[in-house]
Amino acid sequence: MTQHAVAIVNSKGGVGKTTTAICLAGALVDKGRRVLLVDLDPQASASVWLGVPSDGRELLALLVERDQDPAPLIHHLPMGLDLIPGGLLLTQFDPRTSQRPGRDFLLRNVLKRLPTDRWDYVFVDTPGSFGILALNALAAADAFLVPVEAATLSIEPLLTQFRAIEETRQALNPELSCAGILASRVNLAARNPLQILELLHAHFGTQVFRSFIRHNVNLAEAPAHKTYIAAYLRTSNGARDYARLADEFEGRMTAKASPPLKEVVHG
Ligand code: ADP
Ligand code: MG
Repeated sequence: MTQHAVAIVNSKGGVGKTTTAICLAGALVDKGRRVLLVDLDPQASASVWLGVPSDGRELLALLVERDQDPAPLIHHLPMGLDLIPGGLLLTQFDPRTSQRPGRDFLLRNVLKRLPTDRWDYVFVDTPGSFGILALNALAAADAFLVPVEAATLSIEPLLTQFRAIEETRQALNPELSCAGILASRVNLAARNPLQILELLHAHFGTQVFRSFIRHNVNLAEAPAHKTYIAAYLRTSNGARDYARLADEFEGRMTAKASPPLKEVVHG
């Protein structure tokens, strides 16, 4: 199996990026896949969740200093997931590299230094802003996955965001494809929960995952248990939804002809 690098992006915070990075990664681990998670967020929510709080100094150094070996930074966690932790000092990435040519490609250079046969997937969790760290994630990835919070969804900002991603793809990484748009925190108790899904499908067609993630309080509890949802509570809706997503995600990642991103933006 070829290794896929997947950037989890949405310039809005609180939409389920970190939850998806960890719980989709966990669902893939449960399927026997090997997954490395890179926490490219200064808030380090993923690292804290997995019990590896960090100030981000080591990841910052790995990114900005040439030829450092990433291996010593990788934490092999007991639940079978590997993690390169992030932290607050990643806020220095922007000022530290502002004069540097090629600064959009520093994460890509790091990923190139990783063995290609060690993981099936490398997930990159990103901050809730479309800044230089998110650009690095998009420049380094084969595909991007966009969680959208179904409850407060409005299409217009999402279209704007897709245009920005498309510009990034053209400028930095023509190979980048859309892994999928994921409706998260879908509240089936709300009056018209499925309308939002229909709206998403109407605008973005097959790019939207058929699987969606229901609102599930157990997902918010999982960080206190320092593990992904299925390892905390296998019978929860959250665990079921992410397991279903993992199947669909893998089908898409292995399908040869995923539709080009242009259709999403202009279609
Ligand atoms: P982001 O990384 O995009 O900022 P998070 O994954 O941290 O978003 O999610 C934001 C908040 O919403 C967190 O408190 C998380 O526990 C909660 N959350 C995420 N997905 C769900 C869900 N499906 N059901 C209930 N709470 C959720
Ligand atoms: Mg997050």
